Amino acid sequence: MTPNCLFCEIISGKRNAAILLQNEYLTAFNDINPKAPVHILIVPQKHISTTNDLTPEDEMIVGKMFLAAKTLAEEAGISEKGYRLVMNCNQEAGQSVYHIHLHLLGGRWMQWPPG
Ligand code: AMP
Repeated sequence: MTPNCLFCEIISGKRNAAILLQNEYLTAFNDINPKAPVHILIVPQKHISTTNDLTPEDEMIVGKMFLAAKTLAEEAGISEKGYRLVMNCNQEAGQSVYHIHLHLLGGRWMQWPPG
């Protein structure tokens, strides 16, 4: 657990969140400020600050994040209509929590390209 990391606190149970899935590798919970009817964050147990910090040993974790997103999308009933998976990296992309997370967004029409 990395001190002062919001998502490490959620993973460890020190801070509350609406947790949908938790296993050895990942925790998934509802975003506190949802940008779509379905907005789930999929977070690795391992503290990795940004996607720039990924190493080859994280390959399996990243794969598990995407497979979890697929399952959570099915459970949320948005698989067929569609959804968006986003990972923001650093300031210009709008990253605000420096523990990598995959946003699963769905349940409404979305624009492309993003603003
Ligand atoms: P990003 O801006 O890509 O780093 O995404 C961080 C996300 O974390 C934002 O969508 C926030 O709404 C969300 N968030 C911040 N604090 C919490 C919290 N305590 N529980 C759940 N989601 C949070």
